[in-house]
Amino acid sequence: MHPDDYPDYYPDAPLDDYPYPDAGFENLATERPTQPQREPLEVLRDVFGYEAFRPLQGDIVDTVVRGEDALVLMPTGGGKSLCYQVPALIRPGTGVVISPLIALMQDQVAALRQLGVRAAFLNSTMDFQQARATEYALSTGELDLLYCAPERLIQPRTLELLHNASISLFAIDEAHCVSQWGHDFRSDYLQLSILAESFPNVPRIALTATADERTRREIAERLSLTGARHFVSGFDRPNIQYRIAPKTNANKQLLDFIKAEHEGDCGIVYCLSRNKVEATARLLAQKGFTALPYHAGLSAEERARNQERFLREDGVIIVATIAFGMGIDKPDVRFVAHLDLPKSLEAYYQETGRAGRDGRPSTAWMVYGLQDVIKLRQMLEASQGNDQFKRVERQKLDAMLGLCEVTGCRRQVLLEYFGDHLEKPCGNCDTCLSPPETWDGTVAVQKALSCVFRTGQRFGVTYLIDVLRGSDNERLRQSGHDRVSTFGIGTELSANEWKSVFRQLVAMGYLKADPEGYGALQLTERCRPLLKGEQPLQLRKDPVVRKSAGSGRSQRQGNRPDMDMGNINPAAWDHLRACRKALADQQGVPPYVIFHDTTLYDMLQKMPESLEALGEVSGVGAAKLEKYGPAFLTAIAEAAAL
Ligand code: ADP
Ligand code: ZN
Repeated sequence: MHPDDYPDYYPDAPLDDYPYPDAGFENLATERPTQPQREPLEVLRDVFGYEAFRPLQGDIVDTVVRGEDALVLMPTGGGKSLCYQVPALIRPGTGVVISPLIALMQDQVAALRQLGVRAAFLNSTMDFQQARATEYALSTGELDLLYCAPERLIQPRTLELLHNASISLFAIDEAHCVSQWGHDFRSDYLQLSILAESFPNVPRIALTATADERTRREIAERLSLTGARHFVSGFDRPNIQYRIAPKTNANKQLLDFIKAEHEGDCGIVYCLSRNKVEATARLLAQKGFTALPYHAGLSAEERARNQERFLREDGVIIVATIAFGMGIDKPDVRFVAHLDLPKSLEAYYQETGRAGRDGRPSTAWMVYGLQDVIKLRQMLEASQGNDQFKRVERQKLDAMLGLCEVTGCRRQVLLEYFGDHLEKPCGNCDTCLSPPETWDGTVAVQKALSCVFRTGQRFGVTYLIDVLRGSDNERLRQSGHDRVSTFGIGTELSANEWKSVFRQLVAMGYLKADPEGYGALQLTERCRPLLKGEQPLQLRKDPVVRKSAGSGRSQRQGNRPDMDMGNINPAAWDHLRACRKALADQQGVPPYVIFHDTTLYDMLQKMPESLEALGEVSGVGAAKLEKYGPAFLTAIAEAAAL
């Protein structure tokens, strides 16, 4: 398999990417006097500036505060972090968070410090002195939260340190990494079971966004969480609009999509190969977008730099292989585009899930074609792995293709796969918004399959279509295929329509690509009743692409939340963003660490004129009110005059 198909966990993150010179804790409040235990809701309002817990959050927090274990399954953007951050601020001692991506810990910690939380991290990117300072703060009880990479945690030295400190809880983030079936398996996660043995009295909470029933059981077993309460919230991400279109001219389709709907927005474009990543990033850059490549073939420095710009600047598009994205919790990614098909619905759901964590409208957009299907099937067959492994992978790919070809609501299919159920079609996916037409393909399919058979199952789709359409073609004459019975029997369909037929036949498993990898199509067992005309088959009619069909949305919406924008002045919005960017740059943190888009949006809704009123805005807690309140009050007043 191509190296880019393996997830890459930044194994060689640069050692010097620790941007905060103040590894010391001079900015943080000193030890809090012992107080009566605070109420969760009070902490939520005071520290985080949120009005109420979301469903499940409150229950989970109570469970952990009581000292019990929990296993939490919530979609991306569901609000998992609060489930351990709030208890860590309530229970005595330091909450230890195990998180797989050291490259991102610094932003998580920076965001917490902005809230006045005493947070730090321990990982291999720090020098000795920084590590020492953190260890000291831990042992003297000066930390509310400590983020730690799994490989660091299981070192005897770290464990000893933890034994000598007061620990309020362990939070195991991205807990699906412990599953060997999952796509993000990490062997060091397996060793986390040691926490149960060594710290029997410390509550543990495992969290993940992707886990089917089997993976969930595996997580519970491997992390010794069989006695833990399970909290499973629905998988739905209602603010994400799912769209999948047949590939005609991928580059043009992508450009049209971004221009029409996401000009100036931050997004991720996924491609399978490094070359395609490079080419696509160049193309977007030529067209005036800020687009940066990201793949395992780049140097660690360049990857870190591009990721950094993606996090810190507004409106950056990252073009990446799947090596990018895990643990990226940038809240305002407005679109995720796939130019290649993911290998499973798990991967699709996880990758698209990086859009719209802040709950604002976002798009998951994909184009795919016959060649993608063939390529993935071939890669799968050629991959190492035993029969059982391949069988599971095949099922996963089939489910992915099923989503692509479905004529009903895509969200229903997606959620069903994860064991979730949606009563009614969602109304926010392409098949709901413009239901695809279907047609009776029984006869066409019979012709296509028998053409494959008559030509000896040795040819690819272009050749087969030439035969069906009776093309006058030297290669056909030489092989004598201008005399087979299927020659010229398919003139009623265009070449593109035949392509669509073949794509659907491969997707549905009636045809397969030859194992040698030359793209020849072969019949499978399943196609017998179709060949004989005994089984009718409805096919999807690919939508005709109209030239730049105005989607009814305004052209330069860019950057701005497109929900209820009606009553908000774009100039005012830009003004608040500029204020945020200036503050972020001063401190070398990403803008969303200062305030999320949702918070700026709420400010413009409420237009507060006093600090007290500003404190009522969602996402403005006590620490941020003190630090940024005056600057934003001024900016809001200026914005009101624009
Ligand atoms: P996850 O880790 O599950 O992907 P996060 O913890 O990053 O999700 O939360 C997603 C977003 O939702 C963040 O912007 C967070 O601040 C916000 N959020 C979480 N809980 C609440 C709440 N109770 N009220 C308002 N916003 C919340
Ligand atoms: Zn739908």
